Amino acid sequence: MPSAYTSELAGELAADVLDRFLRYARVDTQSVRDRTGSPSTPGQLDLLRMLVGELQEIGLSDVVLDDNGYVYATLPATDGSPHSVGFIAHVDVSPDAPGAGVEPIVHRDYDGSRVELPRGGTVLDPADMPVLAGKVGHDIVTSSGDTLLGADDKAGVAEIMAAVAYLAAHPELPRPTLKVGFTPDEEIGEGATLFDVARFGAACAYTLDGSQPGEIQDETFSGTEVVVTYQGVDIHTGWATGKLVNAIRLAGRLLARLPSDRLTPETTSDREGFIHPYDISGDAGRAEIRFIARDFDDGLLAEHIALIRRVAEEVAAEEPRSRVSVEERPQYPNMRRFVDEFPQVVDVAERAIRAEGIEPVKEPIRGGTDGSVLSSKGLPTPNLFTGGHEYHSVREWASVHDMASAAAVVVRLAGLWAEEPAA
Ligand SMILES: [Zn+2]
Repeated sequence: MPSAYTSELAGELAADVLDRFLRYARVDTQSVRDRTGSPSTPGQLDLLRMLVGELQEIGLSDVVLDDNGYVYATLPATDGSPHSVGFIAHVDVSPDAPGAGVEPIVHRDYDGSRVELPRGGTVLDPADMPVLAGKVGHDIVTSSGDTLLGADDKAGVAEIMAAVAYLAAHPELPRPTLKVGFTPDEEIGEGATLFDVARFGAACAYTLDGSQPGEIQDETFSGTEVVVTYQGVDIHTGWATGKLVNAIRLAGRLLARLPSDRLTPETTSDREGFIHPYDISGDAGRAEIRFIARDFDDGLLAEHIALIRRVAEEVAAEEPRSRVSVEERPQYPNMRRFVDEFPQVVDVAERAIRAEGIEPVKEPIRGGTDGSVLSSKGLPTPNLFTGGHEYHSVREWASVHDMASAAAVVVRLAGLWAEEPAA
């Protein structure tokens, strides 16, 4: 028997959310690393332009696609509410799995069995996927098996679009000024880089880029990239006696001396941070190791970075003819301290989720979101669920029922913000 929606409202929104999602998922919006412009790929502009047309059709005002590939739009308040609340999602999909030629498949009234997809031999097995096993009776969307689905984050895009379409069609429902923002290149860590917070004009915002119903995330890692470069002495091996200093060996020593039984992504969980070498390149003359360091606590993050630096310099000091440089590049801060200054933003979201009949789930994210950077830029932006799962893989799937719940939460957020007294 098909599952019930979390509310009548969600049931009303479901068809539109799905229709939009299927349309957006088919557009190839994969981003690429080491971009030379924004957005990194032209396919993202195809979807951004489509969204501009649809936002105008729905009746939003000030709809713009700016030079960097950001869409901004406004749905004015209905009753002079002083609040201005933003909703943000990213249009790009991950470079980590094939993203072209997505052909989504809708599996109505999921019966709890293994889902064999037609291409690539991809199987979604509820025995390995407890979350999927919990969605019996839901309508499920998957890819055809040889691409990702793009629920990350086109589910978020579709939910915001369906919610503002609903609100625009129901001017009798009180709402604050709603600001909509669609961003490029989130998956390569650049989603917030060129986001124009002043132009956006919201006092606070929500990204819809989470997963399981109820999720509200107001705490992320603080992240820094650390790049260690060893300069050795390269010389023809025939004349190398007593002269060669091999930079690759120095890099190897550094890696061997850093802890591997703790302080790594694979040995930590919950609130523990880590050091993670993720890229190494070079030759005997010069070797570069790129690390990410992560922690929820900025003091501990500084300790992780200091550890890399200390060991890197120790290794170099043992070989006086070598040189080492250690460069730190802050990536994003834990959003918590910024969101804490504006507790209303989380409080209203929790009430909106409860109003949809879902228990809020607050867990720190072991990663960053666009909201981490936006929060530090003065736009407190926690993250909400979307109903998508198994991101960045060909097994990616989403529940239509949960996507409808997310869209309904956006509609409820508008209603609750309209009731909020002025700050
Ligand atoms: Zn995402």
